[in-house]
Amino acid sequence: MLESEAIIVGAGPAGSTCAWKLRQMGIEVILLDKQMFPRLKPCAGWITPKVLKDLNITAQTYCHSLTYFDRLYFHFKGFKIPVPTKQFAIRRYELDNWLVQRSGVSLYQHQVNTIERQNGAYVLDGKFKCRYLVGAGGTGCRVYHELFKTANPRAKERMITTLEEEFQYPIYDHRCYLWYFDNGLPGYSWYVPKNGGFVNMGVGGKIMGLKRRKETIRFHWNLLTKKLENLGLIKNHSYNPKGHNYYLRSNVTTFRVDNSFLIGDAAGLATFDMGEGIGPAVQSGILAAESIVHNVPYSLKSIGKYSFVNLLFPGRNYLKN
Ligand SMILES: Cc1cc2nc3c(=O)[nH]c(=O)nc-3n(C[C@H](O)[C@H](O)[C@H](O)COP(=O)(O)OP(=O)(O)OC[C@H]3O[C@@H](n4cnc5c(N)ncnc54)[C@H](O)[C@@H]3O)c2cc1C
Repeated sequence: MLESEAIIVGAGPAGSTCAWKLRQMGIEVILLDKQMFPRLKPCAGWITPKVLKDLNITAQTYCHSLTYFDRLYFHFKGFKIPVPTKQFAIRRYELDNWLVQRSGVSLYQHQVNTIERQNGAYVLDGKFKCRYLVGAGGTGCRVYHELFKTANPRAKERMITTLEEEFQYPIYDHRCYLWYFDNGLPGYSWYVPKNGGFVNMGVGGKIMGLKRRKETIRFHWNLLTKKLENLGLIKNHSYNPKGHNYYLRSNVTTFRVDNSFLIGDAAGLATFDMGEGIGPAVQSGILAAESIVHNVPYSLKSIGKYSFVNLLFPGRNYLKN
């Protein structure tokens, strides 16, 4: 049995940030993830300056692709609205692995299935034992399902479904486009070009909204690929999109039970308007670590529910570096 003061299940941005902070503050911790890193994670990789600040990343310290956008091009009912802002994009394949490495915490490849209590400790699959357990396993997190689900069922209305692909492409248009409610989609689609010759494109919408319209996300994906072709943004590409579901800020209200915590998508923290989940994942990882170390209540009230305010007013302090 491998014992550690704290165990974090899931090594995405939530888990690796929590691990980084715990280690910095002197707590013995290990990470478990079912996947081998680096791993692919469906995500457009758009991040705000605040995420960089929270992660203590600058263009100098981050050694992978970091794309800067000084405006985003929103489209709404046929209108094109360029919004001046200061935003970034990363590649999740690179960032997530870098964050784990930077944390200095050991990552074990292991899929957690069972969680038991033994004399106040948590025992995972009879192989790992800890005093503090952090659930950072995303939408299907075992910690959520085993310890939190009954008291905190998630609202189906808040679940979004996505199809996305990131691939190398000879980019000539370096602008970031977002199309809201196109063809009745209860969500939005995007085109995000990235430094290093990659493009990320995808479509996401509320599952219940699609059901009511008797449509599938694949239907809207097909419309998006045609649109990109017509606009000349992507031509003659053989698509192979990946799907992923996650929750917008949900009705989950209990994020801590005894010494177990929920962070990131496991807690359902993505913003209502843009489905931004990296920032809330990072913030909740830091808050959980502080709660463990300083034995203070774990509250996620400080994590914003909307992204749009941060787009318009990205906060000058975050941009100094
Ligand atoms: C298509 C798409 C586009 C998106 N675009 C953006 C964007 O541009 N900007 C943004 O801010 N957010 C975006 N999001 C949301 C964002 O990706 C998530 O909110 C974010 O990844 C949450 O991080 P996390 O660490 O909580 O979970 P994840 O990144 O999902 O990490 C969870 C980890 O847990 C592991 N795991 C799961 N179950 C187990 C288990 N039983 N045992 C061990 N390990 C396990 C998984 O392998 C995974 O590595 C997007 C999401 C999607 C689907």
